[in-house]
Amino acid sequence: MIKAISEVDRVVTPSYQQDRSKAPKAPSSLLSDASKRLEKALKYVTISPDAIARLRYPKASLNVSIPVRMDDGSLRVFSGYRVRYDDTRGPGKGGVRYHPNVTLDEVQSLAFWMTFKCALLDLPFGGAKGGVTVNPKELSKHELERLSRGYINEIADFIGPDVDILAPDVYTNSTIMGWMMDRYSTIKRQVCRGVVTGKPLTLGGSQGRDAATAMGAFNVIETILPKFDLNPAETTVAVQGFGNAGATLAELLFKAGYKVVAVSDSKGGIYASQGLDIPSIKQHKNNSRQIKAVYCQDSVCNIVEHQVISNQELLTLDVDVLIPAALENQITSANAADIKAKYIFEVANGPINSDADNILIEKGVYVFPDILVNAGGVTVSYFEWVQNRNGWYWMLEEVNQRLKAKITTEAEKTWNIAQGLGVDLRTAAYIHGLNRLGEALDAKGTRDYYVSDV
Ligand code: NAD
Repeated sequence: MIKAISEVDRVVTPSYQQDRSKAPKAPSSLLSDASKRLEKALKYVTISPDAIARLRYPKASLNVSIPVRMDDGSLRVFSGYRVRYDDTRGPGKGGVRYHPNVTLDEVQSLAFWMTFKCALLDLPFGGAKGGVTVNPKELSKHELERLSRGYINEIADFIGPDVDILAPDVYTNSTIMGWMMDRYSTIKRQVCRGVVTGKPLTLGGSQGRDAATAMGAFNVIETILPKFDLNPAETTVAVQGFGNAGATLAELLFKAGYKVVAVSDSKGGIYASQGLDIPSIKQHKNNSRQIKAVYCQDSVCNIVEHQVISNQELLTLDVDVLIPAALENQITSANAADIKAKYIFEVANGPINSDADNILIEKGVYVFPDILVNAGGVTVSYFEWVQNRNGWYWMLEEVNQRLKAKITTEAEKTWNIAQGLGVDLRTAAYIHGLNRLGEALDAKGTRDYYVSDV
């Protein structure tokens, strides 16, 4: 399906231009920046204009108000969103984010990325995403539960195991997924495990889901770095974001012998040129909610030599591998020229904006894109959904083997497309996903099909 660069150009047709006048308002900021990646990839694929027209806009966006009774008796109303970007290849699939900066634009962008991620990994899902504008750290556990159940009350008609399936994202976790599945089941008057993934094991979760995003990223790193003759002991790594994905990946890398020299969370970071003891830092963070450069023996932790650094300083450290694993838009035109890492593996969604992409490409930095690197999470979510439907649960080894097989296959394919066409890895990943999406969209009928006599 991939065309040579010179053959390309057939992107916008008169029929699409006519449709455009009736189309929803052009996507704004973050989503429009995200769609620039699509435009770049379009030059290399044979895909019907109808399919392209469909992929430029989210299929459905829901904006809800969630009233929550607070512990002091007052009522607060939170804004919530659920966006199904495209469901041609299967039900929508995507996480739910709790963060004070959540907006419809952000959720639409995240749903866009999910669409391409699921296609890239060849999962039978479309792309979706949800979010609530809230600082969950300000809520008690009871308030958080009422908010999570309230969110499901408002979006229940918009989701379902065969319609749109939720999962964890920033500041949501397995407990919250359990509440959401439970509330949806109550509304539907039947147990509906498949409506949410990332649930606690005892409520139908999958082995390996907690570590899946990190495990997938680890498999991609281990597939790619040997191509550059890099071995773990000589490879220095900095990880921004020490949450579910970042901390677990830092630990996997540490255990595999990589030298993780810097980590950070929302409050800032730590750096030690000799390398950090990641399991000790994780243990300390679990107990104190703070990142400290420590070395622990059993429950006794001692501070080791280190520097305190800001998140901005972490991004520009002189390391081999940089792993943004926090939020989007961390590397922009303001700091891209200062990046010294040669390899960036995007664990967060959208940590590099499109302007920064171009600067990094010019500098010769290899950027392995989010839709490939962090796809381990949705892959094991898919396994969880399959297990829920079959009522037959897999062992951890089986989950990890299947994940490794799937993600390394797609990493190799993406690498080969990049090499074959001489494009950057992000464009290669979009080309790969776009080909699969285009095939599915075209299977429903194209202009050529309807106007031909045959
Ligand atoms: P999380 O809530 O567990 O952790 C987020 C981490 O980022 C925390 O350590 C937080 O302190 C830190 N952080 C927040 N703001 C920051 C800032 N401004 N600078 C530096 N650090 C900051 O979330 P997570 O699940 O680990 O998700 C992290 C990223 O990975 C997100 O972009 C998410 O969309 C992406 N992702 C997660 C999964 C998953 O399964 N968890 C799957 C795919 C993608």
